[in-house]
Amino acid sequence: MSKFSDFNFKGKKALIRVDFNVPLDDKFNITDDTRMTATIPTIKKILGDGGSVILMSHLGRPKDGPTEKYSLKHLIKHLNELLGTEVQFASDCIGEEAMQKAGELKEGEVLLLENLRFYKEEEKGEKAFAERLSKLGDIYINDAFGTAHRAHASTAVIADYFSPDNKMFGLVMNGEVESAEKVLHSAEKPFTAIIGGAKVSDKIMIIENLLDRATDIIIGGGMAYTFYKAMGGHIGKSLCEEDRLQTAKDLMKKAEEKGVCIHLPSDSIIADKFAEDASISSSLSTNIPEGWMGLDIGVMACEMFTKVIHNSKTILWNGPMGVFEMEKFQHGTKAVAIAIAEATENGAFSLVGGGDSVSAINQFGFADKVSYVSTGGGAMLEYFEGKELPGIAAMH
Ligand code: AMP
Repeated sequence: MSKFSDFNFKGKKALIRVDFNVPLDDKFNITDDTRMTATIPTIKKILGDGGSVILMSHLGRPKDGPTEKYSLKHLIKHLNELLGTEVQFASDCIGEEAMQKAGELKEGEVLLLENLRFYKEEEKGEKAFAERLSKLGDIYINDAFGTAHRAHASTAVIADYFSPDNKMFGLVMNGEVESAEKVLHSAEKPFTAIIGGAKVSDKIMIIENLLDRATDIIIGGGMAYTFYKAMGGHIGKSLCEEDRLQTAKDLMKKAEEKGVCIHLPSDSIIADKFAEDASISSSLSTNIPEGWMGLDIGVMACEMFTKVIHNSKTILWNGPMGVFEMEKFQHGTKAVAIAIAEATENGAFSLVGGGDSVSAINQFGFADKVSYVSTGGGAMLEYFEGKELPGIAAMH
């Protein structure tokens, strides 16, 4: 695999797998362009060298072939603005039109291909489809970390059709892999992992893998109540996965054996219903009254978690501390975001990932106060679970 920053793209046609799976409103306006802006430096470096660029991506989950709603043509206008150049469009990602337009691209020009997932062959990872895509460019670049955990035609299979010198990661992928590797394999201690969100079942594997690496694991959000119930606490009608009580006990035991400190929220903001207009109160997390549920971590928990975070040299955050989408229950998530920003300012390395923690950090305006914000939700989780991602493995 070649190194992107050392490569001279003069006269080359770079076929880039990007992650332009951005949210659109019902008038096809882009409501969050983070994934598009992330990859602009990769494109500009190639154009600056005197190369040309062919962009391929999926958008949404089309089920039955071409669908107006999922057409990548809705992104052209914004892409033109971001790149400051007129982007060409091929109304099919393979076939004659795509081949001709890619073939005629001149230095500094950009071609956007129609949605890859209009072909079921993409998700099936079909070789013939990957090979047809590969014919569009001289160099293959994977810059789509968000889909790196999928063994699809354009994210993994296609790499086989390029020689080692003619394939590489783009700047987004490099940044993601470097920061994840730093946290996984050369984390300065104390290393605190903050894991939140709704379900223990979604986060078991990441917690297990982190037990061998972190010094402290903070557990917040709905998943904390399964742990408290497993310890014999009264959690009212808080979220609980009854079939994971033993898992929670096992994780606590393993942590103790490995000398990892697990921090649970000692108190909670409780509500009488799951709604913005609920009545609220506070309570110890082990003693939540019948009919009430914990929807955020409490004041004592915020203080305690802040202390642990301030004391850390490496911080990984995945998952909110409460129902941060509702104003009444966002205090805990905000407190954690503030503590991470402060620790980062004092020299810690902080990596934030997972869809909800990224929305939270953006919503609170802290995105530029942490060391790295990951663009990949599922991919990031799988990376930290210790799995090999097909999109990364395919390049080696
Ligand atoms: P996840 O996708 O597993 O990271 O979970 C994120 C979701 O968990 C968010 O939509 C939060 O609103 C939700 N959540 C966080 N804390 C709680 C809680 N205490 N009770 C119910 N849902 C929660």
